[in-house]
Amino acid sequence: MIDDRRRKGIGMTSQRTRERLVERLRDEGIKDSRVLAAVRDVPRHLFVDEALASRAYDDSALPIGLGQTISQPYVVARMTEALIEDGIPESVLEIGTGSGYQAAILAQLVPMVYTVERIGHFSRLARRRFRELGLYNVRVRHGDGFEGWAAHAPFAGIVLTAAPDDVPEVLLQQLAPGGRLVAPVGRREYQELVRYTRRDDGLEREMIARVSFVPMLGGTQ
Ligand code: SAH
Repeated sequence: MIDDRRRKGIGMTSQRTRERLVERLRDEGIKDSRVLAAVRDVPRHLFVDEALASRAYDDSALPIGLGQTISQPYVVARMTEALIEDGIPESVLEIGTGSGYQAAILAQLVPMVYTVERIGHFSRLARRRFRELGLYNVRVRHGDGFEGWAAHAPFAGIVLTAAPDDVPEVLLQQLAPGGRLVAPVGRREYQELVRYTRRDDGLEREMIARVSFVPMLGGTQ
């Protein structure tokens, strides 16, 4: 939960514009009231550069530097919905911390969030944001998401916010029985958002939407 003292420090303007964003997501088909409440509660303007803060509540992806982007709120909401639809997972692994926004949304809804980022600059910045917002249920790791986070596996939920050509086998192995993995899969600009569910008799695969994410890259920097 976002610390209340912190929330009071945020101006009325952003409170109203955030409300408008929630309305818009509802119009676009986001139905889960828990997800909409999380979008209302997380101050997205604190996850982008000050110069872009006035656009933080537009429903669009924004640059966060080093060629990366903070995901579009609709896509964040849709992925979160797909992850928690049939129950709140005990813990979620996110690959691609970036600004930390998706992790902050998840932190409103699930007991524990583990997030891995390959670029050290982003993991440091995100760690600081989570601390400042009083989000103590997020752990950040600077590392290669292709390896997952074995020490905390298995996860009831896994979400990728960078697109691999195919979902890495290692990540599917770190998915708990009954668990769900949501990921953009495919090359270049456009990918399919897919959801895998680990069933007793194997993996179920569903197509959710067409999306556009930055590619998942190996190694750290
Ligand atoms: N969830 C983020 C979206 C950031 S964009 C947000 O809400 O802002 C995707 C991020 O994935 C980038 O920061 C990129 O550096 C990271 N990424 C790409 N490949 C990765 C990998 N193999 N492991 C971890 N992070 C990766």
